[in-house]
Amino acid sequence: MRKVISVDRKRLPTEQDEAVIVNRWHPDIPMIAEVKPGESFRVECFDWTGGQINNDDSANDIRDVNLAPCHHLSGPVGVTGAEPGDIIVVDILDIGVFDDERWGYTGIFSKEKFGGFLTDYFHKTAKAVWDFNGIFATSRHIPNLRFAGLTHPGIVGCLPSHELLKRWNDREAALIATDPKRVPPLALPPNPQDVILGKLKGAALEQAAREGARTVPPREHGGNCDIKNLCRGSRIYLPVYVKGGGIVVGDLHFSQGDGEITFCGAIEMSGWVDMHVDLIKGGCNKYGIGQAMFQPGPVDPNYSDYLVFEGISVEDDGTQRYLDVTLAYKQACMNAVNYLKKFGYSGEQAYTILSCAPVEGHVSSVVDIPNACVAVQIPTAIFDFDIRPNAKGPSRQVKTSDLAFET
Ligand code: ZN
Repeated sequence: MRKVISVDRKRLPTEQDEAVIVNRWHPDIPMIAEVKPGESFRVECFDWTGGQINNDDSANDIRDVNLAPCHHLSGPVGVTGAEPGDIIVVDILDIGVFDDERWGYTGIFSKEKFGGFLTDYFHKTAKAVWDFNGIFATSRHIPNLRFAGLTHPGIVGCLPSHELLKRWNDREAALIATDPKRVPPLALPPNPQDVILGKLKGAALEQAAREGARTVPPREHGGNCDIKNLCRGSRIYLPVYVKGGGIVVGDLHFSQGDGEITFCGAIEMSGWVDMHVDLIKGGCNKYGIGQAMFQPGPVDPNYSDYLVFEGISVEDDGTQRYLDVTLAYKQACMNAVNYLKKFGYSGEQAYTILSCAPVEGHVSSVVDIPNACVAVQIPTAIFDFDIRPNAKGPSRQVKTSDLAFET
């Protein structure tokens, strides 16, 4: 397997021998490598923070993390012959961790650090460290739990064109303008602080740093889509917007629940990803595709028994909302959190389990006015005790432990 991008994790992302790291989306970033249609190759990646989080029992690193440079991504890799309007077909052949770094982490962030999906319920900064044993993950911070990971890249996409980048920046600026002082913010405007854009230098770098789109939201090109089933064997169809396409990948996740709800909500890891590329010339027009498309791989943890928590569009104070799927999802998550607490888990542990384990989130109905109905499905087999309800009450209290908090 030809390795087209190597990272040296002993050195900072800004101090790599080759300028293989980018942390904004911009059309002018020069390709760092080129591959041909039909070729397979390996790309190495930092974890999304670029090595800021430690394998320890304090959440001070989560509290103090510098989010201005995030995410640290690898690329862009150009595909020979790719032109705007084509589709690059990316097969995820394999993903792995580095031998000397068989661990990952999950963080709960404060509102000042963008919060998370349940940030109104969970204010404390916290961290869980996970150990990897082959395909399995366990955490000393969350006892009585073990599951198989569906390892996947949180972020993959091609570089946007100037026109597409302007569209992103304009529409997100308009949203921010509706409530510019909100905490957490409604969206993140371009921010030149700590920008890394590969081989771009001088005035071109300065201009791109002022314009480059942040990597947090998923957009038309794919980007931070955080699809938990984009595991080994998946195929990704990426629209091409600039010559060569420019595949950028990173933010590797050992495992994630649907929704990635704590924000830093997957099991974040550094590692490598093996990809194969092909090209569909003129594919965007041929198939009427303007947005990335995905075909999840045939590999899935074989969990068949789930406990399903329902959520509907009703606020905690009883106010009825109209077909609000987001609210319904929050309610379903909180129903699950409150249930798991009855077995001895802390709220933060339960929140993290929903965020990291192979938990399914389904939109069940959006037509039954006034309530949307969503389902959060927890596989029962990931716990080493029976979590199903019975007449005797919660069957077992979990071992005493908790997430790592600020010290
Ligand atoms: Zn991530």
